[in-house]
Amino acid sequence: LNNYVGFDTVTHQIERKFLKRGFNFNVILVGETGLGKSTMVNTIFSAHLIDSKGRKTAAETPRKTVEITPVSHLVEENGVKMRLTIVDTPGYADQVNNDQCWQPIIKYITDQHRAYLERESSPSRDRLIPDTRVHCCLFFISPSGHSLKPLDIEVLRHLTQVVNVVPVIAKADSLTPEERIGFKRRIKEELAFHRISVYPYASEEDDESDKTLLQTVKDLTPFSVVGSENTFMVDGQPIRGRHHRWGIINVEDETHCDFIHLRNFLTRTHLHDLVETTAHMHYETFRYQSKKRKRL
Ligand code: GDP
Ligand code: MG
Repeated sequence: LNNYVGFDTVTHQIERKFLKRGFNFNVILVGETGLGKSTMVNTIFSAHLIDSKGRKTAAETPRKTVEITPVSHLVEENGVKMRLTIVDTPGYADQVNNDQCWQPIIKYITDQHRAYLERESSPSRDRLIPDTRVHCCLFFISPSGHSLKPLDIEVLRHLTQVVNVVPVIAKADSLTPEERIGFKRRIKEELAFHRISVYPYASEEDDESDKTLLQTVKDLTPFSVVGSENTFMVDGQPIRGRHHRWGIINVEDETHCDFIHLRNFLTRTHLHDLVETTAHMHYETFRYQSKKRKRL
C-alpha cells in the first residue's frame, strides 16, 4: 500500500530550504462528532496518528465540554522532517446549547499566536521559536445535502478571522454524485452570501499560474471527502476504501471523491503557503490588534 505522502517533492527553492530545515505543521479539526475527522487524518497521513482507543472512548461518551488536545507526530520522508500536530476538538455542537461553542477553539488558536508573540518579544528569545500556531483548520460539514447549518455559518465566520479554513464535505459517500454537486454549489453560494472567505485567498502578487491554481482549488472547495482506514484488494492491488452495497469506494479514485485532491493540496501544493499565510496574515493581524489593545 502506498503510504507515501509526498511533502518532500515541493520544487521551489525557497520551499526546499523550508523543508530541509524541518518544520512544524499544525492542523486543527473542527466538526461534529462522528463526521470522520480522526479517520480523515489517518487516511491522509497514513500512519495511525490518533490513538484509536482514545477515539473510541470519546465517541461512546460524548463529552460535555470541548477539550482540545494537540497530538504531535514526527513524520519523515526522504530526509525531510515534519512535526505534524493534529489538534482535535471533541464535543463541537454536541451540547444542548451550542451558543459560543466555538469559543474554546478560537481561544486555542489565539493562545498559540499570543505565545509566539511573547517569545518573539522576549529579550532572550530563542533563535528558533517553536511554532504551535495553527496553520490549517479542516472544517467538516455534515453531508445533509441541503445547506450549511446556522451554527456552521456562525462558527465559520469566527474561524476565518483567525485561521486558514479549509471546508470539506464529510462522508461524501453518503451522497449521490448529483447530490454532491448540488450541495457543493449551494455551500459555495452560502459562503459568498455571508462573505466568509475560506483559504486560499487571492493576492495582488499572484501571477498567471498562481491564479490558475487558485481557481482550481476554489472550484474544488469544499472538497468532498471519504475516509477509510481499511484496505481492500482490487485487481491484485491494495486500495484504501469503504465497502458499500454497490461495491467498493476507492478513496484515492478522483471519480469517487476529492480525497486525492485534498491530500495533494495539504501535503504538496499548499503546505508551504499555509504556513506562510498563517505567519504573514493571521499572526500579523493578531500582532497588530494586540499592539492596538496595549496602546488603549
Ligand atoms: P470523528 O468523531 O469526527 O473523529 O469521527 P471518526 O473518524 O471517529 O469516524 C466515525 C465513524 O464514521 C467511524 O465508524 C468511521 O469508520 C466512519 N467514517 C469515517 N469516515 C467516513 C466516510 O468517509 N464515510 C463513511 N460512510 N463513514 C466514515
Ligand atoms: Mg475523532
